[in-house]
Amino acid sequence: MASEFDLIARYFTRPAPSARLGVGDDAALIAPQPGFELAVSADMLVAGTHFLPDADPLALGHKALAVNLSDMAAMGARPRWALLSLALPQADEAWLEQFSSGFLALAAEYDVDLIGGDTTRGPLNLSVTILGEVEAGRALRRDAAKAGDAIWVSGELGGAALGLQHLLGERQLPPAEAAACLARLHRPSPRVALGCALIGLAHACIDISDGLLADLGHILERSNLGAEIRLAELPLAAAVAGRLDEPWALCAALAGGDDYELCFTAPAERAEAIRAAAAAAGVPVACLGRITAEVGLKLLDAEGRSMPLHETGFDHFAGR
Ligand code: ADP
Ligand code: MG
Repeated sequence: MASEFDLIARYFTRPAPSARLGVGDDAALIAPQPGFELAVSADMLVAGTHFLPDADPLALGHKALAVNLSDMAAMGARPRWALLSLALPQADEAWLEQFSSGFLALAAEYDVDLIGGDTTRGPLNLSVTILGEVEAGRALRRDAAKAGDAIWVSGELGGAALGLQHLLGERQLPPAEAAACLARLHRPSPRVALGCALIGLAHACIDISDGLLADLGHILERSNLGAEIRLAELPLAAAVAGRLDEPWALCAALAGGDDYELCFTAPAERAEAIRAAAAAAGVPVACLGRITAEVGLKLLDAEGRSMPLHETGFDHFAGR
């Protein structure tokens, strides 16, 4: 059977031109460009908690890195280096071949070098540490929202959550919608180009991993502010669009996890610049509300009337 070192050499050792020293020593050596800060983040995917143990390894490799790239996007940082720590129940080379292909293909797409990690036997667990660069003092922080800011969201919401429900047999979707939702769940597109383009335009930013309300809630809490959200402006996955009067659809849109879109705030007068930056990054964006000095979150219906959360039926689903 291949040793741990053979596996690392075969599947995880690739040239790392952006590092002074990559995989193979006790530590990698890197240096950020002068005038830049390192943005550093880690995310772990645990079998049985974050994915089903028989999940497609190619998609898992993609997702393990994608969720970390999304954290860089949310800071406005350019991702540069990754470390990959794996606990594997056995040295299944077919699995490793697929997993590393998915991981390394996405790394190549974003110009990220794999510079180290750890490989050990144990219950399946995938942990990635990502390092990126952002101009000193300019990162998009959660605590930087200002009263009066417009609230924006990239892409569309609700698809990944419905994909998971479909996978678990909790909801039947027509084939085309199911395929779109499963793609959202398994192959999220980290919004790196948009995040970088928002430096100097946006105030606060976060990536939506736990649902719009929860993640926007982190911005509000850290910035000590409130928000109004106009339901009619929510950018929705096709499987949700037109069905917001049904609690399950509203719940997927407002509280569905795993979409990995960006939610950000910016002065209202920058709307045109933001639309131009998003178009250049190739990502749709929607303006769906505003930050208020008064704390708390208000949902507004199509006529601008405030909808208490419990009247939307959303409460019943929240926290799932
Ligand atoms: P050490 O004994 O010093 O911890 P290891 O034997 O764990 O070193 O790893 C040897 C080299 O391989 C190190 O450079 C480490 O960063 C790298 N490495 C180990 N596992 C992985 C992995 N899954 N992906 C990328 N690099 C890895
Ligand atoms: Mg080690």
